[in-house]
Amino acid sequence: MLRRWWFMERLRPAVPERRAGELSKEQQQLVLDEWAAARERLDRLVSARVTAVGDVLRATELPSSTGPLTPGVADPRAQGDCAWAFDAFQAAGKLLDEAADLPDLAAAAVLADRALERFAAVHARAAGQPVPKPAERCFYNPLHTAAGRTREPVRQQHRRRARRRTGPREAAADRRPACPSCRRAILAGQAPDVLPALVPVRLSRLRTARVLVPYYSVPQQWSLWSVCACGAYGDEWPSLVLRGEHRKRAAAARRA
Ligand SMILES: [Zn+2]
Repeated sequence: MLRRWWFMERLRPAVPERRAGELSKEQQQLVLDEWAAARERLDRLVSARVTAVGDVLRATELPSSTGPLTPGVADPRAQGDCAWAFDAFQAAGKLLDEAADLPDLAAAAVLADRALERFAAVHARAAGQPVPKPAERCFYNPLHTAAGRTREPVRQQHRRRARRRTGPREAAADRRPACPSCRRAILAGQAPDVLPALVPVRLSRLRTARVLVPYYSVPQQWSLWSVCACGAYGDEWPSLVLRGEHRKRAAAARRA
């Protein structure tokens, strides 16, 4: 996603403390310029995605099982799923408007996609059809195409892995859901194409710089998105966003 990852070195504990002060003003400006360009690109892509999901949600009629005034037909699960889908879509729009960083924009795309998946599940159940499986997202960058995971049952996967001689790279590639491209990179001993986040780091008593780090290494008090692959896991994120929790955490990062 970004070309200059050298600045990540600044946060690694192995890097001696004195090197942090070497981040010059020009280097800091390069980081900020690259971040701003990535943000602009992502904003355009995610806006288009959220708009497209909105068009589908508006154009699709709700199944009768979601109606509040249809005794004998109303299905509380369908009603709950529809309410979640609309909250997730509303949260995606709010994130798009109020994004402080790239993971907020990624979360907008993930929540809009999940709204559509949940909505499709309600329709499939109402029509007596099999419910499509939600996409498994790439942990390293939840904006990537769906993570490739074998569909064999978990027990068979364990047996197959136990039979196979697993080296450290295979073990690393299996540790998290990864899209084919990130998985190939890990197997080749390279870094996957990680979604970055901009965080403050104190260079001296008087000077703080902003550096890019993998979104999943951002402290939870600064971001909702580091623990849930930008809203890919768990159902609590739409309501937290609608209550403004993402803004509170971004403000905590700014005060750091
Ligand atoms: Zn990926």
